[in-house]
Amino acid sequence: MAQPESNEPAAAEPDPLSRPLPSVDMPLLRGQVRAARARRVAFLAMLGVAAVGFAAWGLWRTVSAWLDEPEEPPVLASIPLPAKDPEAYAPPEPEFEDETGDDLSVDEPGPEVVEIAPAEGGAARSETTFGQSLGFRPALLRAGLSNDEAIEIERAATDILDFRRCQPSDRIVFERDEAGKLLSFEYHDETTSYVKVSHDGETYSGERVEIPVRRDLVVRSGTIRTSLGEAVMAAGLDRTHAGLFVETFDSKVNFATQARAGDAFRVVVDEEFVDGRRVGYGQVRAIEYIGERAGTLRAFWFEPNGRRGDWYGEDGRAIRGGWLRIPCRYDRISSPFDPRRMHPILRRIHPHNGVDFAAATGTPVYAAADGEITWAGPKGPNGNLISIRHADGYTSHYAHLHRIQRGIRPGVEVEQRQLIGTVGTTGRSTGPHLHFGLKRGGRFVDPMAVINGPGPRLPGGQLATFRRVMAEMNEKLESVSVRAPTPAAAPEAREEGPSEALD
Ligand SMILES: [Zn+2]
Repeated sequence: MAQPESNEPAAAEPDPLSRPLPSVDMPLLRGQVRAARARRVAFLAMLGVAAVGFAAWGLWRTVSAWLDEPEEPPVLASIPLPAKDPEAYAPPEPEFEDETGDDLSVDEPGPEVVEIAPAEGGAARSETTFGQSLGFRPALLRAGLSNDEAIEIERAATDILDFRRCQPSDRIVFERDEAGKLLSFEYHDETTSYVKVSHDGETYSGERVEIPVRRDLVVRSGTIRTSLGEAVMAAGLDRTHAGLFVETFDSKVNFATQARAGDAFRVVVDEEFVDGRRVGYGQVRAIEYIGERAGTLRAFWFEPNGRRGDWYGEDGRAIRGGWLRIPCRYDRISSPFDPRRMHPILRRIHPHNGVDFAAATGTPVYAAADGEITWAGPKGPNGNLISIRHADGYTSHYAHLHRIQRGIRPGVEVEQRQLIGTVGTTGRSTGPHLHFGLKRGGRFVDPMAVINGPGPRLPGGQLATFRRVMAEMNEKLESVSVRAPTPAAAPEAREEGPSEALD
């Protein structure tokens, strides 16, 4: 097999030719994103000032309680102190007048125990939040469980709960009988399931219990005024849904340059409810973009029998079936594909047969398409290299990897988007980056220039099922009307990107 590349540039300067490619993180219409960021910063600053003020007030109340002269706070006298208004902060029924204020309890953090109520048969039920506990076991101890119980529960929950991901809002619920014996324990960390630990005399055993979720198919729609992200949020969707448009239609639209004020979109999505309470959005089922420049695009989520779900176009082909042009999350393109590059070290024309994505060591690298591994291991200046053979005479190459994923070795079949390794700086490399090379018929081609063609069409039986799903979704989409963009609509936030289009 030919060597995908023989050397690497020195830590390259940001290349003016490179520009952000469409990805989930790509800012849409940059001005709007900047404004949002500025708003966020201002909000956090206000929050910070409020927090400092509150802390100062709390400090003063505490200090003033110790001192005999509370009217002279020793520090921070310039900060307006709301506590000087005794009426606003007096306890409901003061037993006696006390101008220093006997309201110190106001400064105490509220008790974390949310509820202790008698349960059936004289048992006591306790519900506590994880709060600011430093770990799972400390949280259990704080909730009122004994050390022995906490150890056993932690052991029983090890495989079904990721202790590092405990959140302050997680709830710890347990019951004891009259004698104080632990009857039940639950840890509520997710909206659709919780951890239950049972104790049958001697042993503790844990399981994850699914909570029934009601899913309503809803349609959300909107019109773009300043950016797709803003319009998506205004429609009551999440920020990630904007990313979904960008990812799915990456090969057809460059949202950074082709999105226009007046463009419209519709989304069919599961809205999820637990116990009648809305918990958020689930799977998106269909998306539609109606653009002045981009045209009308629709994509449908479909899960073929026994295969992972994916986005399909109206023709029944997987939309993203072609290539991942970007096989890892990257900071910048440190060196583009350039067959006539002047090598920075060798000082002669030396082709750069791929694209360098600068990214932190350890960043996951994904297979760009389905295929078979043909090389996985060290290979000279490439460092740790993975090569994959794909359909239609293509091969892809991933050099300088830090790690190669377990099980990735020659002969193994991989799927598109499968984790194959992590970014590193092995071999002839001056900094952590992924060198991504692509060959067609044995010749290197620019991975950024290869058209992201559609994937294979669904097989016959699946195609019929898909068409039924699509008909249902089309009906849903069309149940909500959107204003079609008029070419005359004056774009408010037009931002022309570079003239060379990728697609
Ligand atoms: Zn390279």
